[in-house]
Amino acid sequence: MQARSGTYALIMVCADEQQVDIGKLGRFSAEPGFYVYVGSAFGPGGLKARIAHHARISHCPHWHIDYLRPILHLKQVWYSYDSERHEHRWAGAMSRFKAATIPMAGFGASDCSCQSHLFRFSRKPSDRLYRDRLKCRLKVYRKQSDLIGVDPSPAPSKKGPRE
Ligand SMILES: [Zn+2]
Repeated sequence: MQARSGTYALIMVCADEQQVDIGKLGRFSAEPGFYVYVGSAFGPGGLKARIAHHARISHCPHWHIDYLRPILHLKQVWYSYDSERHEHRWAGAMSRFKAATIPMAGFGASDCSCQSHLFRFSRKPSDRLYRDRLKCRLKVYRKQSDLIGVDPSPAPSKKGPRE
């Protein structure tokens, strides 16, 4: 992962039913399955710094995802290096997956007209299908050692969702 600007999707797993408060949005009920969060990084450090942020648990939650992150296991990151911001297009493309549901309206979408930047799937969505839909150079980051090395959230249990 490089310190360049770009767009990303966090692929996260929820192993057990849990509840958590998401700032002003209120109480969130997480169910076993896959959660996908779409964002972009255009600040200093670019994608590298942002993904490092998401891989850790934030003690001062700032974004909606910071509140949710502690109860999910970060499994993969899909990303592309872009000079333009594509997160809303990516969120739109994710919402058009037939299997996608929106667990909480407005999540990660305080400053845009998207319904949500968070989606839930019973089974892991296909990065190949997503790449085809986006028509972009989507990369998949799945170095488990890198992600888990800094990821204190629970690993999915054996009875967790199937892929
Ligand atoms: Zn948006």
